[in-house]
Amino acid sequence: MYKPQSVFVLCDKCHWCVTWLDKTKMSAYDKCPQCTDSEMLSSFPILPDESFTFDYSKKKGVELDFKRRKK
Ligand SMILES: [Zn+2]
Repeated sequence: MYKPQSVFVLCDKCHWCVTWLDKTKMSAYDKCPQCTDSEMLSSFPILPDESFTFDYSKKKGVELDFKRRKK
């Protein structure tokens, strides 16, 4: 059975981010819609049983905290 893989996309430059639920359809985001910089996009695959928190502060920058989802 086909399961779309989620992916989290983050712009390292302006910190625009999006969680993309189907990786195969994310070609629309080959560059950042805010600063239109394609070089600065990072993407992180998200496992189906994984959750994460996204945090941004000027002092610490971008923080991603991946966790196993509890049942
Ligand atoms: Zn950007």
